[in-house]
Amino acid sequence: MSLTVLYITGWCRSGSTLLGNVLAEATGVVHVGELRFLWLNGVLGTGSNGRCGCGARLTECPLWAGVLGAVRPADRTLAAHAAEVVRWQAACRTRHTHRILRRPPDNGWPETLAATYRAIADQTGARVIVDGSKFSSDAALLTHLPGIEARRVHLVRDPRAVAWSWLVPKAYTGRRSAPNSTLHWLGFNLTAEAVARAHPDTALRLRYEDLVRDPRAAVAQVLGLLGHPGPNPVAPDGGVELGGNHTVTGNPNRFARGRTPIEEDRRWHGALPPRQRATTTLLALPLLRRYGYEMRGRP
Ligand SMILES: [Zn+2]
Repeated sequence: MSLTVLYITGWCRSGSTLLGNVLAEATGVVHVGELRFLWLNGVLGTGSNGRCGCGARLTECPLWAGVLGAVRPADRTLAAHAAEVVRWQAACRTRHTHRILRRPPDNGWPETLAATYRAIADQTGARVIVDGSKFSSDAALLTHLPGIEARRVHLVRDPRAVAWSWLVPKAYTGRRSAPNSTLHWLGFNLTAEAVARAHPDTALRLRYEDLVRDPRAAVAQVLGLLGHPGPNPVAPDGGVELGGNHTVTGNPNRFARGRTPIEEDRRWHGALPPRQRATTTLLALPLLRRYGYEMRGRP
């Protein structure tokens, strides 16, 4: 059975959790959130985000317990294997994207990632896995994984909205300054572009602002990239019925259930202090124009 992985690239706080959960309502699609953190957050317990989207601890969730067990070599404990996986991942970071486009890293991460995708498909019966991890290096790596059809969505959001989101304290993750967020925004988006340039037939770019303003059209575009026959899970009024999910980390809106309107979060317009706003605009300027955002911040 063919297996497609739709990998979301771009910088954090760009709406990948929302996009993934909406896509997961399409037939045969499962959204796994930021899968890359399954071992670090889930098994090793680093950080405060060790719960699955179903509410259980990741190691106690039936899906992830089954996947972790299937992927772990028989001669390793779960913790020893997780520590090994995290070490392998360190050689496959965003800064390594260009190298990985040419050749996969020479360690166990490619095989582990492929085995994890296969285990998820086996456990869920899904034919499409949406991975919202946002590491361009892993989006590049997909091409080297046998038996996996790769698709990529490069999700972009106004860097000033993203900077504001990072300035607001959140229980599940740390804070970043506006320059720190914006430099990461540049790096993650530039590497996402490099992957898309290398594989133009399997990639599309989507702006968060376009997703939330016309979610039905944006989701139709992504389903088209997947060759998915539909139906489109977004109703004509822009709402979506969200069922349960088994997502690894991500925005707390992954716990939303039931009829959910999709609306733009525009709080940053009045809330991002002028100094941070100016710094962000200046740093992001080259890509700001490319992505169609105005200097004054109203795309
Ligand atoms: Zn779960």
